[in-house]
Amino acid sequence: MGMPGVGKGTQAAFLRSGLGWPHVSTGDILRQAVREGTSLGRRVKGTLDSGQLVSDELMGELIVERLGQSDAREGFILDGFPRTKEQVAILDAVLERLGISLDGVLLLTAREDEIVRRLLNRRVCPKCQAVFHLENHPPESPGVCDDCGSALVQRPDDTEPVIRDRFRIYAEQTLPIAEGYRERSLLNEIDASGTPEAIAGRVREALQTS
Ligand code: AMP
Repeated sequence: MGMPGVGKGTQAAFLRSGLGWPHVSTGDILRQAVREGTSLGRRVKGTLDSGQLVSDELMGELIVERLGQSDAREGFILDGFPRTKEQVAILDAVLERLGISLDGVLLLTAREDEIVRRLLNRRVCPKCQAVFHLENHPPESPGVCDDCGSALVQRPDDTEPVIRDRFRIYAEQTLPIAEGYRERSLLNEIDASGTPEAIAGRVREALQTS
């Protein structure tokens, strides 16, 4: 968990290579549906572009389907779900049905001005989803993906007014659920300032002690 742009996706990718579990990012799944023009994609495109939340009902269907797939049997790293109280209940129910217990919840935190800078400088590859940062992790050739050579783009929801709205929604709907996880002794708060590698070190440490 953590504010939009705090680095959840980057850290989840580090963890995936360390643990071998799939990285289940609901944002990535939705963006892929939009790119592919599926009926789900057509339904959610406007919501994603404006930084609003997709309905809990739709997200519930999506997560039930994804966590039921065979690669998630041994474990998975959830990124971007749950984001509302209702989604916490949905996740609890899905996990119970699958006979899996939640190991822990990592909450990444950083200063808002640092996060805004990260978001405004974020560039993504629309083809292979690689993520770059114009200052901290620039592509080798400007504007071109290192991995597949496609032209990099800015996410439509990474513009200042939409970022502010996403922060507001996070504070109103998502942050309160972190408190619920704290009460269940599942929450581990991590300082997500600094380089991705330094943050990954703190994440690893937190996992060893939790
Ligand atoms: P993210 O990549 O996690 O920042 O997600 C991008 C966008 O996808 C969000 O701004 C929402 O529009 C949508 N989204 C992703 N995960 C969820 C979720 N758990 N609940 C509702 N909407 C979501």
